[in-house]
Amino acid sequence: MSSANPQPFLPFTRPAIDDETIAGVAEVLRSGWITSGPQVKAFEAALSQLFGGRPVRAFNSGTCTMEIALRIAGIGANAGGSATDEVITSPLTWVATSNVILETGARPVFADIDPVTRNIDLAKAEAAITPRTKAIIPVDLAGLPVDRDRLHALAKKHNLRVIEDAAQAMGSTWRGHLIGSKAASNDFASFSFHPNKNITSIEGGCLVLNDEREARLAEQYRLQGVIRTGFDGMDVEVLGGKFNLTDIAARVGLGQLKHLDAFNTARRELARRYFELFDTPAARARNLGLPVADFENSNWHMFQVVLPEGPRCLSRAQVMGKMHAAGIATGVHYPPIHLFSLYRDLGWKPGDFPNAERVGRAILTLPLFPAMTPADVERVVKTLTEILQKN
Ligand SMILES: *Cc1c(COP(=O)(O)O)cnc(C)c1O
Repeated sequence: MSSANPQPFLPFTRPAIDDETIAGVAEVLRSGWITSGPQVKAFEAALSQLFGGRPVRAFNSGTCTMEIALRIAGIGANAGGSATDEVITSPLTWVATSNVILETGARPVFADIDPVTRNIDLAKAEAAITPRTKAIIPVDLAGLPVDRDRLHALAKKHNLRVIEDAAQAMGSTWRGHLIGSKAASNDFASFSFHPNKNITSIEGGCLVLNDEREARLAEQYRLQGVIRTGFDGMDVEVLGGKFNLTDIAARVGLGQLKHLDAFNTARRELARRYFELFDTPAARARNLGLPVADFENSNWHMFQVVLPEGPRCLSRAQVMGKMHAAGIATGVHYPPIHLFSLYRDLGWKPGDFPNAERVGRAILTLPLFPAMTPADVERVVKTLTEILQKN
């Protein structure tokens, strides 16, 4: 069918950069100041306004953003804490989430996911708390928020810092409040602006902080620990790195921020169409695991199905290959972290987190991005349904 009537290749995601942003980037390039400067300040101010006036600092990735939050909280042997400090997180996330825990010299502790939401199971997280637990890093996978009421109660009860890995949750809400704002997020919230995320600054991220003291520390950790005073004063009090965002990236981020609501509305409508099309007898018979149909809180960062498994089923790699042959890209987000070699060498093994393993083995990200059309969604569902039927 696709050879008789070839259709353009459909990626699983694609950034949408408007002409105004491109012109703005050209202006920055001509301005004589291209690294961190006025555009970064403007981007931070716009983000701070979005999050209800909380302090926000921008960085060159979402990864270092979380690492800096851990450092500010003094967690881990490399951040003034202890090598036995424990940080609880999900095994089903981008590996950055737990790598930053190792990076600061603390210990990741995984708690299995809830197979329905695919987010950390907070009852299991609570069961994993020990006297050494210092923080929890909840991850809003695909933009579906972790239950903030239960999360806040848990953190309060056990005196834990919270570093929300909201990399995928830009524009998601909890009870009508934006994730990152005080009403939804009462400690650190970290976002990523990687090109695959709902808004991008090419590479980049931001951290929503609690007060000006933390913001000042974030600035120090962002650039070699340097503090400047007057015209020529310079000191270094803490070991910082090189995590500053460029003005070019910040200008892209500013241009994107204007479209956040429109982008997320488009994603939500496409997600609705996926649900309608997966709710036909032919599609239902394929036994796909669908995401939670959340049109209240989620920013629909991804639309992910869980493939059926069994001796008569195609493997995920086979399904992806056939989709690719039909001109449709799919993705895997994510293989469970504890089964990567680095983590197995630290002692984790198959069977430790059965829900994350089952979902991680069979989860498949379908195309979803603002410039997609309902006809693209129809093409994806039709193609996938046919592939699964022919196994
Ligand atoms: C993208 C992402 C990150 C890392 O962000 P970068 O900007 O790529 O460093 C961390 N956690 C999750 C869940 C992500 O999706």
